[in-house]
Amino acid sequence: MNKNNARTRFAPSPTGEPHVGNIRTAIFAWLFAKANNGSFIIRIEDTDQARIVEGAIDSILESLSWLGITWDEGPDKGGEYGPYTQSERQKLGIYEQAVEKLLKAEKAYYCSCSSERLDQLRKSQSKSGKPPGYDGHCRNKDSTQVLDESAKQVVRFAMPKSGITKVSDTIRGNIEFENGLIDDFVILKSDGFPTYHLANVVDDHAMEISHVIRAEEWLPSLPRHINLYSALELDPPIFAHVPIILASDRSKLSKRHGATSIKEFRSKGYLPSAMLNFLCLLGWSLDDKTEIFTEKELIKHFSIERVSKSSAVFDNQKLEWMNGHYIRESDQSALIDDLLKYWTDFPVETFDIEPSVSKLNAVLPLIQDRIKTLQEAGPMINFLFSEAISYDTQLLIQKKMDFKSTLDALNETLSVIKDTNPFTASNLEDSLRLLADRLSIKPGQLFGTLRIATTGQRVSPPLFESLEIIGKDTTIESINLAVKKLNTYGDQN
Ligand code: GLU
Repeated sequence: MNKNNARTRFAPSPTGEPHVGNIRTAIFAWLFAKANNGSFIIRIEDTDQARIVEGAIDSILESLSWLGITWDEGPDKGGEYGPYTQSERQKLGIYEQAVEKLLKAEKAYYCSCSSERLDQLRKSQSKSGKPPGYDGHCRNKDSTQVLDESAKQVVRFAMPKSGITKVSDTIRGNIEFENGLIDDFVILKSDGFPTYHLANVVDDHAMEISHVIRAEEWLPSLPRHINLYSALELDPPIFAHVPIILASDRSKLSKRHGATSIKEFRSKGYLPSAMLNFLCLLGWSLDDKTEIFTEKELIKHFSIERVSKSSAVFDNQKLEWMNGHYIRESDQSALIDDLLKYWTDFPVETFDIEPSVSKLNAVLPLIQDRIKTLQEAGPMINFLFSEAISYDTQLLIQKKMDFKSTLDALNETLSVIKDTNPFTASNLEDSLRLLADRLSIKPGQLFGTLRIATTGQRVSPPLFESLEIIGKDTTIESINLAVKKLNTYGDQN
């Protein structure tokens, strides 16, 4: 297989937010091109006009860009083989020319069967247990009989009725399809648009695509495409059908399993580098142990021969683990950039102070090992970026403590804190442990109260380090407020 200067493509239909499965397929096609000094092309397949969703093309391109995938030619940047959107290519008449050629060679024919007839046919086939498919009713008609301008006509491809279509797939090896089982499919619809099959074949050829890397679910289309190539007297590209992605319950990954689009994963705080790494391992592996790959390493090691035939399982826990790994390994300033960008795209509602780089620099070392997604950071450090921390007063009162002992503890804490100089985590820890001892309460009880009073959170980064970042004045203010809240609470209860 000559892989040099390979031309691969991603040919999405703009029908909604791109599914991670499609994006994973795009990544394989991109990696293959990059690994073989080739070009990666994006072509929008929008011939099914009824299914077009506004904004879908932007979402697809955005998802790829976010992952760091770049393309050499595409709808937004053009290229020598444009246009890169099929509805625009249709205007050039290239699909019509192909249809003409097939009609002339009697490899295609007009069909004017009504939708009622086709419905009826489907029903009777299902009743008699036959597979659904067109019965060739118009195949042998004299074309003048069906060339009725007023009738809604389509053009169908005349599939060979017998014989075997043989094709070699890079991942699956030799595959054979029985021609007799494939019906005469539509290639030109009554609205004048080609169907996927025709447009796909015409364009892959016209754009000189050398390797078609696409999902396994397109395998049933393969014999149709191979026969179209042969009827149009064109050489087919090399095919590789990559495995589908299943959820952990081994059903097809869908919305009911949680996030399925890149945008959703992005909003949940996954890093593009982790996502790219994770998606590449869905169906591809280098060996049985290496899990972490940079983009460079992926390009270096990727080979289509190492893509597996069997379905890949999308393991959310593994993704989380991998993302946590990338966060832990991240350079602090890069992580700050990632967080700030994330919060711009997905603002934290409870932040009312703009997060500053200096505070983030102070607090990140406390949480970098604890968060698995960027989303988890906000609630953990909320206390640093909200004007007034709010909490339910009762949370101040720890287990086996009451209103009175809590109030005493807070008042004592106040004086200890005032005397803690310099106001460092280790000094605070030493003096507050001594205080707990003196008050005959467990350190955990004292620290629990103090955590609520100063952060408003039951879970926070390590307490003393957090207090050091909060600073002495604000810590004192917060404790005073807690005392006030407790007094009001005491009056009411
Ligand atoms: N337009 C098809 C899709 O949405 C492309 C299939 C192919 O790659 O041939 O997936």
